[in-house]
Amino acid sequence: MRLLIMGPPGSGKGTQATLIKQAYQIPHISTGEMFRAAIQTGSALGVEAKKYIDHGELVPDDITIEIVKNRITEKDCHHGFLLDGFPRTLPQAVFLDRLLEKCRLQLDAVLNLEMDEEALVKRILGRRVCSNCGATYHVESIPSQVAGICDVCGGKLVMRKDDTEETIRLRLRIYRENTYPLMEYYAKKDLIKTVDGSCDIQTSFQAVVQILGGINDHHKK
Ligand code: ADP
Ligand code: ADP
Ligand code: ZN
Repeated sequence: MRLLIMGPPGSGKGTQATLIKQAYQIPHISTGEMFRAAIQTGSALGVEAKKYIDHGELVPDDITIEIVKNRITEKDCHHGFLLDGFPRTLPQAVFLDRLLEKCRLQLDAVLNLEMDEEALVKRILGRRVCSNCGATYHVESIPSQVAGICDVCGGKLVMRKDDTEETIRLRLRIYRENTYPLMEYYAKKDLIKTVDGSCDIQTSFQAVVQILGGINDHHKK
């Protein structure tokens, strides 16, 4: 299965992607996570990406496209992948189409997590991530067992540097202006499957499972 998961910042893309990855055994490719990993290791890519990410701006297309190209042509992606947070601009979407066409592959679905903006701000301000393994929590809805400590690895939980109210507002605006228009692009290809991102994690995931079940059935015919 070749899937995209889209939706505004905080709509639960990463959370749902983690569940999809486990259930369907496809690699979860998050451009945001790849950039954060590069920032942590201090690579040239990380230094460049940080200039944009910390302010809530998009990393330029050429840089982003390059890392995605390298990642999805790796062997573990041959049987499918789930792209989270990519594409975010029209040139990125066009690049992805061309790459898939060249390999005679197609996307199976674009999962679109929908959610109200004010609720998103609240979600993002409560987000805590493990500084060691990247696991994601929420201070109210998904707290760790011990406050500030990761359940998975014992690492320290922190706020992302770009999760301030001011940066969130900018990211939401960029989403509206640059990324939301892609819905029309994928709607024309009849790929959009909308999921309510505002309900609890399992309810959203059940909706995803139902959608993906339909896709599998279709392909078996
Ligand atoms: P969120 O889901 O909260 O928006 P992500 O982890 O997906 O956050 O992305 C974090 C940041 O990384 C974005 O705000 C942006 O600066 C950068 N980024 C991630 N994916 C892309 C992309 N496809 N194009 C440009 N910048 C990106
Ligand atoms: P995105 O990748 O779209 O930015 P995340 O998966 O990081 O979103 O989720 C944003 C925040 O909301 C995190 O703190 C996460 O734990 C929390 N969260 C995710 N899904 C839900 C949900 N269905 N209900 C409540 N909180 C959620
Ligand atoms: Zn951890």
